[in-house]
Amino acid sequence: MNITRRSLLVAASAVAATGTLGAPRLARAAAPFKQPALPYAEDALAPHISARTVSLHYGKHHKKYFDTLNELVPGTPYAEMDLADVVASSAGKEDDAKIFNNAAQAWNHVAYWEQFAPGGPKRPEGELATMMTGTFGDHAAFVEKVVAASDAVFGTGWVWMTHDDAGKLALIGYEDGNNPIAVGRPAYLGIDVWEHAYYLDYENRKPEHIKAVLDNLVNWQVVADRLARG
Ligand code: MN
Repeated sequence: MNITRRSLLVAASAVAATGTLGAPRLARAAAPFKQPALPYAEDALAPHISARTVSLHYGKHHKKYFDTLNELVPGTPYAEMDLADVVASSAGKEDDAKIFNNAAQAWNHVAYWEQFAPGGPKRPEGELATMMTGTFGDHAAFVEKVVAASDAVFGTGWVWMTHDDAGKLALIGYEDGNNPIAVGRPAYLGIDVWEHAYYLDYENRKPEHIKAVLDNLVNWQVVADRLARG
């Protein structure tokens, strides 16, 4: 199966990215994989994402991906890899699809929680701001483009800010747990558009949820650091 063709739903680009992969730092380098602690209290994202949603999303959904992955990898080569390598190495292998799905979702949510760490700038700054404005337009236009990318994901999935084949910033929708690092691209900002991410708080109003997250929760220093890490 061609992951790239299946997964890439929307791409927009303009300005060249200077970095490559910004990977979340993970606590362990091999199995058993340990879910990192939530980097803030469960109510820290309220009212934009409620404590109840965070409790279920982090404590049940995210935890389950780690638990299942740890049931699947013993005795396989994946047990000796770090989590990002499990994602990249299992991507596109039909026999290892279950390992890929759980590893990718475990990884995705580490990046997701990390990027909402309180205390950072609420809008992009410096070089990141220049690049994003040149690529997407102003903040409102960026939000619109994220919503449009999410609408191109028919079922469950994610929208990631990454870069395209030409090395330019891009918003790309991925189905299910698929993500940029599975196809050798950087993961700068990930918006979870599975219903479990927003349904308790916003019911079917996904665009409202995406706008609330982008207007209020993203720590853009985390995004800038991912871009700079390369
Ligand atoms: Mn999720």
